[in-house]
Amino acid sequence: MRQATVYIDQEALQYNLNRVKQLAPTAKIVSMVKANAYGHGVKDCLAALKDSDAFGVACLEEALEIRELGYEQPITLIEGIFSDDEMQIVIDKKIECVVHHQQQLDWLRAHKDAYIAQGLKVWVKLNSGMNRLGFKVPEIIEVINSLKAEGFTCVLAMHFANADAENYPLNDQQRDQFLQVKEACAPIMGSCCNSAAIFKWPELNFDFVRPGIMLYGATPFADKTVAELDLKPVMTFTAEIIALNTIQAGESVGYGSTFIAEQEMQLAIVSIGYGDGYPRAFPKQNYVSINGQQTRLIGRVAMDMIAIDVTHINAPIGTEVELWGKERLVDDVAEANGTIGYELLCRMSARPVRKLA
Ligand SMILES: *Cc1c(COP(=O)(O)O)cnc(C)c1O
Repeated sequence: MRQATVYIDQEALQYNLNRVKQLAPTAKIVSMVKANAYGHGVKDCLAALKDSDAFGVACLEEALEIRELGYEQPITLIEGIFSDDEMQIVIDKKIECVVHHQQQLDWLRAHKDAYIAQGLKVWVKLNSGMNRLGFKVPEIIEVINSLKAEGFTCVLAMHFANADAENYPLNDQQRDQFLQVKEACAPIMGSCCNSAAIFKWPELNFDFVRPGIMLYGATPFADKTVAELDLKPVMTFTAEIIALNTIQAGESVGYGSTFIAEQEMQLAIVSIGYGDGYPRAFPKQNYVSINGQQTRLIGRVAMDMIAIDVTHINAPIGTEVELWGKERLVDDVAEANGTIGYELLCRMSARPVRKLA
């Protein structure tokens, strides 16, 4: 059997959840499990994240999956509902909505009594300069104050565009607008921290923090490693060596013959490729890890196979190769490929076998 495997370390997930608790001890934790728990598999992740106060997802289908698995915590739909017919399901299944435009407010008001009777909060989204979703100042103040007057329980919600950047001017504008609205609508609960903001601005934790990437043990920052943040990688992605080749100087390897050997070398072919979610780009040299030793990729990544240099490594057929995990960090693979860990994790394909570590 082809041995492309994704191992999920539930203890690492719990460790990272505890890191959130240390960093934001007074806030409730909305664990972000959208996109199949950032590609990790929502079922196994929920089991490890069961002590979260709530969960956050991007759409109703993702929320219903959580309910079907038997979890009863509050769930927030971070983009709200997409059509009127979703409102009744949301109410029946006790799922909370973000509202970010007028039509969603109309849908909500049409179901006001049932929504409130279920004890559901409304997350009102502030657009403070990211310019994706939300009401701007001062409109949002009117929206919130009228929702409150109608009997809704509101949470002021906001998302930073540059929480991962030091001294970015928009950060101050976003924070100031959030605080301004929070004061104008007081008393109101607040939520504006993703992983990066949880690390950077403890004073902005407020009522609910929304950690995503940090739970999975990847870094939200370009310039800080998971070790520096005291986080543990949750996913280990491995495959096996299925063939060995000795090539001579002048011989090429793989599609496009992009690599030409300068001297005799030993290659190993590993059964992994972009069909599994392994990235093909690598504008910078990419590496894998074999028993703690890093070794370079050779030539192009194909759909099902890669070649690696094992000239100086004893690695017979059947040797397990770590594509990313605790030795070769997903953040470093992402960097070599001109992307971020988030993307590599989320776009894991369904092909590798999933196992618990
Ligand atoms: C995805 C998401 C988060 C989590 O962001 P991370 O950077 O992964 O921590 C938080 N809030 C909202 C609204 C999101 O969409």
